[in-house]
Amino acid sequence: MAELHSVCVYCGSSNDGAPEHREAARNLGGRLAAAGVSVVYGGGRVGLMGALADGAIEAGGRVVGIIPEHLMRAEVGHGRVSELHVVASMHVRKQMMFDRADAFVVLPGGPGTLDEMFEILTWRQLGLHDRPLVIVNLGGYWDDLIGLIDAIIEKRYARPSFRDFLTVVDDIEKVLPTLRGAPPSRIPPQTEKM
Ligand code: AMP
Repeated sequence: MAELHSVCVYCGSSNDGAPEHREAARNLGGRLAAAGVSVVYGGGRVGLMGALADGAIEAGGRVVGIIPEHLMRAEVGHGRVSELHVVASMHVRKQMMFDRADAFVVLPGGPGTLDEMFEILTWRQLGLHDRPLVIVNLGGYWDDLIGLIDAIIEKRYARPSFRDFLTVVDDIEKVLPTLRGAPPSRIPPQTEKM
């Protein structure tokens, strides 16, 4: 894509996942910062979210956190980000995360990460935007999800083109080259329909 100024990263809020996932999140934050790309994320200090933000901040990057008021305590709003937006609801958070990003990256995570990712994918399926999304399948973490998506397509509950809306990579270092190689965005996002 021609211009990559900011990337929204969806990832787990759990502190109990594999240490290498945490390291990967920190690594991604650092790489985005080093490339001059702003990180947009859920604004917390917990789990991979916190590691991502720490990695970007330590590398001198710009980090935009967006967190609903009611999660400030549970997800521990990050005190050192460049911008922390405390918003009224989950929907406002997701909309703002979309608005602030040129592209999306998915790291290992739980139900919240899945919700966020599928919203981007279904908005894309409906033609409301054409921004790229990359799934980082660390150690095969997302194998079952990718298999499920392929099965849904095979059983004709999604079109084969759905698979084109996501790119799967197996390593953090492939994220930036993949996003930079994505076709330029041609659709002005129809945010009023999201
Ligand atoms: P998880 O992958 O479940 O650890 O959640 C990752 C992030 O997604 C956390 O910041 C959650 O607050 C967020 N999340 C969970 N459910 C939703 C939702 N319905 N809408 C927006 N964000 C959510």
